[in-house]
Amino acid sequence: MEKGKSSQKKNYDKIAMWLINMECNFNCPYCFYNDKQRSLKTKVGDWVRNKISVINPYKTKVISPEQARPFFDATADRWWIIISGGEPFLYPNFIQLVKELSKRHLITIGTNLSLPVDEFIQEISPENIHSFYASLHLGERERQGSSAEEFLAKAVRLKKAGFKVEVNYVMYPPLIKRFKETYEKFKEQGIEVEAKVFRGEYQGKEYPQNYTDEERKMFYDLIPSEVDRAASFHNLSFKGVPCSAGMNLIRINPNGSITRCPHDHEKLGNIFTSKLNLHQKPKKCQVPYCKCTLAIKEGCVDFNKRK
Ligand code: SF4
Ligand code: SF4
Repeated sequence: MEKGKSSQKKNYDKIAMWLINMECNFNCPYCFYNDKQRSLKTKVGDWVRNKISVINPYKTKVISPEQARPFFDATADRWWIIISGGEPFLYPNFIQLVKELSKRHLITIGTNLSLPVDEFIQEISPENIHSFYASLHLGERERQGSSAEEFLAKAVRLKKAGFKVEVNYVMYPPLIKRFKETYEKFKEQGIEVEAKVFRGEYQGKEYPQNYTDEERKMFYDLIPSEVDRAASFHNLSFKGVPCSAGMNLIRINPNGSITRCPHDHEKLGNIFTSKLNLHQKPKKCQVPYCKCTLAIKEGCVDFNKRK
């Protein structure tokens, strides 16, 4: 079959941010799910959720491609399904799942790109794949015996097969000095690398507050948008501002439960029961902080109304 290219235009009606699993073959020290980077409040919440696993939204429950499709096909809407994890390529039947869903919907996959992609390239047409959002995680990759070169070769292979590949590099303090060289090596092969700030603690210092001016200068312009730059260095709040998350954006959790967005846990349904009660109009944001840059960039809430 003649294959096309990832669609440059995001023609969709609604967004589903699907955190598909928590399992990962990497163990990045800055991972949000890494114990060291979790606040006491979050750790207490984790402890309670682990005790009562039936209410734990982060407990992965596997859905089959045949079960998932009717949920997204229930209305005439075309979803932009943004799948992240954990590592989505570890999810059972992942390639078949993407194959089914991409027949009608637009897909983005957030991945560490450490697992083979040959079958994916063979099986899936890039036309309905909006992009790969691939994280380099250089330190952990090398700890596992792989390299930036191996990642780059895979990204180039995907690109040649017609897929759009966006690469990001977390500016974890010990990895900052290797950013420039990596950025240039990738650029030579036509792959742009975005900088992503590290938020958390390293050697007793809190980041991003403790980046030096020189460090910031090196990567600030390589954070892709004004929204990302603002959210990288500040806690954005839209509390009380109308937001259409819950109406045209949802978050699906690893156990299939559906909430308004990653921060507002108002329950809207469940993918396993194909139940979805969307808001009929935008509602005021109820939570103190919003890190959902996608919702902001896609116009769910007015960035200029941030507090
Ligand atoms: S690849 Fe992502 S999910 Fe996996 S450990 Fe690293 S940051 Fe966490
Ligand atoms: S403003 Fe952000 S946190 Fe608030 S509801 Fe919208 S997406 Fe969620």
